[in-house]
Amino acid sequence: MSKSSQQLAERALARVPGGVNSNVRLGVREFFFARGEGARIWDVDGREYVDYALGQGPMLLGHSHAAINAAVAMACAEGMVYGAQHPLEVQAAERFCEVVGWAERVRFGMTGSEVVHAALRLSRAATGREKVVRVTGHYHGWGDTILLDLGATSAAPASAGQPAAALAGTELAPWNDAAAIARLLAGDDVAAVIMEPVMFNSGAFPPAPGFLEEVRRLCTAHGTVLIFDEVITGFRLALGGAVEHFGVVPDLATYGKAMAGGWPVAAFAGSAALMDRLGDGTINHAGTFNASVMAAAAVVSTLAVLEADPPYERIAAYGSELQAGLAEISRRSGVPLRVEGLPVAFTVALDVPGDGGSDPRLRLNRALAANGIWTTGRGLWFVSDAHREPELRDTLERVERALDAIAAGSEHGEAALA
Ligand code: PMP
Repeated sequence: MSKSSQQLAERALARVPGGVNSNVRLGVREFFFARGEGARIWDVDGREYVDYALGQGPMLLGHSHAAINAAVAMACAEGMVYGAQHPLEVQAAERFCEVVGWAERVRFGMTGSEVVHAALRLSRAATGREKVVRVTGHYHGWGDTILLDLGATSAAPASAGQPAAALAGTELAPWNDAAAIARLLAGDDVAAVIMEPVMFNSGAFPPAPGFLEEVRRLCTAHGTVLIFDEVITGFRLALGGAVEHFGVVPDLATYGKAMAGGWPVAAFAGSAALMDRLGDGTINHAGTFNASVMAAAAVVSTLAVLEADPPYERIAAYGSELQAGLAEISRRSGVPLRVEGLPVAFTVALDVPGDGGSDPRLRLNRALAANGIWTTGRGLWFVSDAHREPELRDTLERVERALDAIAAGSEHGEAALA
């Protein structure tokens, strides 16, 4: 760890519990970044990294996107929040529904966790039922009614202070197991089925052929609201997210991350019949900063950039080349890597057993970071439209060095991070 980072980490610990503002970052508490541009980020010591964490997903168009930043700065120079409406939020809603393609109504929020909360509340209110069915290993935020350990196969609090009562009526099915979902819906008493349309929070696993279609059919048959949590897949798999990619339409979907060029914006959207129930005030959804001028400007400008020049083919092509390159380096260096998922987002894991003190995930992350590759702590790699030929070349060179260090058992040496 560098001196500047170490000093900052110590100062942070003195005022910020754990030194971090999100528990997801506890594992990287000693890393401080000063700058990001395109697909590269620089730490406080000026060390440069090719970035595959992309802020846990939002930076689909790369860091410091000039057009989006300029649009937001210009809009908020004239006011930010009013406790009432302003024209840009209408434009944002119109553009959102048009671009996503299937949604008739949308409400904006700031984080994935809160729009998931809103979608669940709306589903319970609309059906008059309380039960919720979800999938083992999927993540939907840190709220009391939805947080579970990723490995949990039955609903139990995953955090101290989380009331067990908040999870009453929550049932789990395994991923891609439509028969299990059919059994859970059989009593016609389930308000909602919520799932990530591609499992991205425990590895990266697409739905089995026909699975989403079958869940759609079951939800319709049993009067259950189908919620796709598109916080990762939205605007990443396609402009219309997983709904467009797989051609299966839910009743509600939640969005966040990639929809606003890094600005904190989330949304939940769906059919008019469901969403309009929020409009008479009987179902509460609120937020001081919802659809602020900054949020609306960020959505409008991000969607404009995505629509004018859709990056999806470029991102998929880059991701495929990168996956092939990683497999090739793994073969050459004799260090087994497991690469799973889609070209736009996939996991890379060191395929060796942990031996007591050395967690393979940590070994790989540290070796990669020491060689200028930044990824998420859990090994999920996101690709952006700013990843181009130079980044591919640098990435493959750096990964090769990282794997050589691992093969030599020297990744804890001088060059590596403490
Ligand atoms: N849903 C999914 C599928 C997510 O991946 C996440 C965050 N990684 C969330 C919800 C929660 O979003 P946020 O962190 O913005 O609250």
